[in-house]
Amino acid sequence: MKFANNTKINTADELAKINDQSLVRSKAYVNGKWIGAASGSTFDVTDPGTLEKVGSVADMDATDVRKAVEVATEAFGTWKKTTAKQRSALLRKWHDLIVSNKDDLARLMTLEGGKPVTEAAGEVLYGASFVEWFSEEAKRAYGDVIPSPVSNSRMMVMKQPVGVVGIVTPYNFPNAMITRKVAAALAAGCTVVARPASETPFSALALCELAERAGIPPGVLNIVPCSSENTPAVGRELTTNPLVRKISFTGSTSVGKQLMGQASTTMKKVSLELGGNAPFIVFEDADLAVAAEQLIACKFRNSGQTCVCANRVYVHESVYDEFVEKFVNLVKEKMHVGHGLSEGTTFGPMITERGMFKVEDQLKRAIDAGARVVIGGRRPEGLNAGGYYLEPTVLVDVSDDVPMSCEETFGPLCPIYKFSTEEEVIRRANNVPVGLAGYFFSRDIGRIFRVAEGIEVGMVGVNTGIISSEVAPFGGVKESGIGREGSRYGIDEYLNIKYMNIRFI
Ligand code: NAD
Repeated sequence: MKFANNTKINTADELAKINDQSLVRSKAYVNGKWIGAASGSTFDVTDPGTLEKVGSVADMDATDVRKAVEVATEAFGTWKKTTAKQRSALLRKWHDLIVSNKDDLARLMTLEGGKPVTEAAGEVLYGASFVEWFSEEAKRAYGDVIPSPVSNSRMMVMKQPVGVVGIVTPYNFPNAMITRKVAAALAAGCTVVARPASETPFSALALCELAERAGIPPGVLNIVPCSSENTPAVGRELTTNPLVRKISFTGSTSVGKQLMGQASTTMKKVSLELGGNAPFIVFEDADLAVAAEQLIACKFRNSGQTCVCANRVYVHESVYDEFVEKFVNLVKEKMHVGHGLSEGTTFGPMITERGMFKVEDQLKRAIDAGARVVIGGRRPEGLNAGGYYLEPTVLVDVSDDVPMSCEETFGPLCPIYKFSTEEEVIRRANNVPVGLAGYFFSRDIGRIFRVAEGIEVGMVGVNTGIISSEVAPFGGVKESGIGREGSRYGIDEYLNIKYMNIRFI
């Protein structure tokens, strides 16, 4: 593990390097206009790599959001009548603009979210891929003709947009979590009121600026940033306002449960992409070099702050020592901790202080119970005089009972456990209330099917640590949520099925 070039980064100077400054928007976007909160309040956004201010953003409250919902309801009346082809063309333009502004969007994302700028550029393209995908899917929201049991009638199924969608997104993918939802909703003919994470609103607002340039009509996409203080009331407004017909949320399981409860009062459709606790299993017949390489990306991308990242690594006892050595060597070689805009950084800060404290608490409790740190385990010194930096950390001898083994870490801790048999490791992998992603490495075709079918998750990576793609269904089972995003299934979350029985007269 090395420290990347540690020249002091100045957030304001880096912000000024964004070529198209009109992408840096600090107001809400409602009804095609950039507006402040009625109260005039704003909140600050901080660069987690320097702890300097990126900017101040309009702090919309529940009353502001109610107005945005009314606007979206009005716009739905016309947007739902546009043809799929028209919506498709607008989404395609939006996609092209996102791609052509990739570098500016990536820089902005790094400044508010901390991830290394090359990783941020990857997210921009990943985010854009959903807009492209749903621009194509818009045209394929087919219905059905059902063979009628009665000779003088015909039965049909049509799909219609659900209406106004309320969207709440987390801080770890400030671009892609917005596009994955918004593009599907707009393709289906829904209108949107989206509230981006308080830590990372600038990426969402920049996307909105590009949507406006693409010609998305006023009222169809509304973005209402708010501070963490206003969040519970804004969340309540979106989940209880009867004009909102669908809630799409990505975030933790605990907040997901709360929003689902609130949404039940008006029986909204819900999509919930919640927390994970992914097992990453290395069998004795695995290619250990490939498994170690894949674990680097799977565990340490975005400093371990991804919902699908490996949380518990199980390695067969016969290859355990060899695997740990290989993996630790890769951590030493590839992980360069630093500000996301410092040359050579591959591992940035955590996004929030709250997240950093949670990780440090899990680390302490594991060590108190006997775990041993093989590499990492500290806040690196001297990095930009602050910032939420934690070293990528590998641990062995971790008890199965400590929080690190039972709960989602959402940070750069990598506990590596030993196992003896396939049955045992499947049982341990499933011994958590959530089930989002899981990974395993093996060359035995029988085992590949047994384990893929046996682990209780929504997504399985076999001999790979990377699974996310716009063409594949993203989502979990158990307490990891409800619904799927991306893929041909994703648009259905924003469509109602209507059945029509036509009797001949
Ligand atoms: P979080 O649940 O605390 O917050 C998620 C979002 O919800 C944030 O924008 C937050 O401000 C907002 N929020 C919090 N309380 C709210 C309320 N009462 N009403 C409305 N909004 C509210 O989660 P987090 O710590 O910001 O994000 C990390 C979590 O998100 C992890 O559990 C991670 O696994 C999960 N996640 C899941 C996916 C997925 O696709 N399954 C993707 C990314 C992150």
